Amino acid sequence: MNRALLSLGSNLGDRKQHIETAIELIKQRVGEIEFVSSYYESEPWGFDSLNQFVNVCLTCTTMLTPFELLQKLKKIEQDMGRTKTKTTYEDRFIDLDIIFFNNENIQTQELTVPHPYYESREFVIIPLKEIVKEGHPFYHFIKS
Ligand code: ADP
Ligand code: MG
Repeated sequence: MNRALLSLGSNLGDRKQHIETAIELIKQRVGEIEFVSSYYESEPWGFDSLNQFVNVCLTCTTMLTPFELLQKLKKIEQDMGRTKTKTTYEDRFIDLDIIFFNNENIQTQELTVPHPYYESREFVIIPLKEIVKEGHPFYHFIKS
C-alpha cells in the first residue's frame, strides 16, 4: 500500500464545490482518503488573475503506482472540465498535484516527486502542515 499527499486547487466558479467533487472522485478512483486539511484561500501564483484560489491538501492510500496516480488525476481534471489553453499558468476549475509519494524521488519529464515547488508555495505548505505533524511518515520532508 502506498501513501500520497496531494494538493488540490481551484480558482474558477464554485471553487469549494470543485474541491469537494475532486475529493469524491479521488475516493472512487484512487483510494482511501486519510486526512483533508481545511480550505485555504490564496492569491494566484505565477500568473496574474483576479480569481483567488481555494487550496486543500489531503493524504490518501492507494495501490496505484505514481505514474498511474498522475494519469488518474489528469483524467479527473479533464472530466471536471479543465481545459488548458496556454502553456503557462492559468485560471482553472481544478488542479491536482502530487506533492509526496511514499519516500520516492522521481525526476522525469512527466512527473517530479516531491513536487518541485512545494516548499516555496504557501498554499501547499500551510494546509500540508495541518496534516503532517511530528511522527507522520512525511514529516522528514518539512522538518527544516
Ligand atoms: P501546474 O500544476 O504546474 O499549474 P499542470 O497541472 O498543467 O500545471 O501540470 C503540468 C504538468 O506537470 C502535468 O502535465 C504533469 O505531467 C506535470 N507534473 C510533473 N510533476 C508533477 C506532480 N508532482 N504532480 C502533478 N503534475 C506533475
Ligand atoms: Mg497541476
